[in-house]
Amino acid sequence: MNVNMEKMLVLGSTGSIGEQALDVAKKTSTEVVGICANKNWKRVAAQVAEYNIKFVAMCDEKAAASLFLALDDPSVRIFAGIEGICEMIAECGATFAINAIIGQAGLLPTLAVLENGIRLALANKESLVVAGEIVMNLAREKGIEILPVDSEHCAIHQCLRAGKREEVKKIILTASGGPFFGMSKEEIYNVTPARALAHPTWKMGAKITIDSATLMNKGFEIIEAAHLFSLTPDKIDVLVHRESIIHSMVEYIDNSVIAQLSVPDMRHCVQYALDKSARTDALIEPLDLAKISKLTFATPDRESFPLVDLALYALGEGGATCAVMNAANEVAVAAFLSGRIAFGQIAESVCHTVYAMKDAKNIHTLDGIFEADKEARRRASEYLDL
Ligand code: NDP
Repeated sequence: MNVNMEKMLVLGSTGSIGEQALDVAKKTSTEVVGICANKNWKRVAAQVAEYNIKFVAMCDEKAAASLFLALDDPSVRIFAGIEGICEMIAECGATFAINAIIGQAGLLPTLAVLENGIRLALANKESLVVAGEIVMNLAREKGIEILPVDSEHCAIHQCLRAGKREEVKKIILTASGGPFFGMSKEEIYNVTPARALAHPTWKMGAKITIDSATLMNKGFEIIEAAHLFSLTPDKIDVLVHRESIIHSMVEYIDNSVIAQLSVPDMRHCVQYALDKSARTDALIEPLDLAKISKLTFATPDRESFPLVDLALYALGEGGATCAVMNAANEVAVAAFLSGRIAFGQIAESVCHTVYAMKDAKNIHTLDGIFEADKEARRRASEYLDL
């Protein structure tokens, strides 16, 4: 069995990735020093007991109070609010953090992890979508390589080991195509949340599952790749691959294509990041290609799924344009999940908000980005009549 000496911090510990990160910690005998979540204090209390964790933060202050009463243990330090999460990051003594918080809420914790010189495994792709330049500049300043916990980017990281950077022609991000692959814009417009939540290959949290159904997630991943691997948009392609076995590829200048394949299981990415991209004993099942028998490929349908092109536009505009797109998307996805808008209105409202806030491209400071985020939420809500 692997034994790891890292002191691990899991941000967003009650979510899909957070739970898998804790499972990796257990299977590699890695000490978990801290966790955080938003409201789910009951699950957090169970994790504290199971992993003997001494530093805990809840973003929601009421949840922090409930946790305090439930634990009734003075040896566990409990922090509250977003400031509390950042304080906990500074004080818990972690050497390795995985940020698996959902949405823009993950940005300040990402910055706090880097500020404190802690190695970062980043699942919270929204940190890079919202403030990619700021995050990457801070990582460079601190000498920290951010390792992605996103199957596509983890794959690209592995494929890039096969050649020199100047030999890379382009990267190819694979996409499952989501549950509505092959359907027209009209057929998709009124699908229910239950149908949109039925992802064909991955079991994930609700928000990213909807982002996968609209292909906003693939748009986010283009932006994430551009920042992580310093690539211009023309060097990033998207290819639909329904089986989610090839997690992404790199094409080199000699037209040789290097791909990374494995069963779809995010614990591989967590382990790869935890072990500093070394090859260590597998936690995931082996790949049986004879059983899978066939892998298929197609070009994405940009007509039915306009958010891929919108993400490319936002990336090209720069500044806070991607933050605006993310904020509008968060509003629309939450409204769709609670049954207040149609599926088709997600893309409509995100496009509307991005085009209505064209000046956001001139915003480059963190404060400015948060302002733009707030304004985008207001405009998206107004457009959707929420
Ligand atoms: P989930 O919805 O399953 O979990 C989200 C986690 O974030 C929960 O622990 C939640 O706590 C916590 N959280 C929410 N808001 C806050 C807040 N304001 N402060 C602190 N914690 C908060 O999400 P996923 O695990 O699916 O996704 C997490 C991230 O990983 C996303 O950025 C996603 O894009 C990325 N990702 C996920 C993949 C997957 O397979 N799931 C694959 C690739 C990337 P609570 O339970 O209390 O609400």
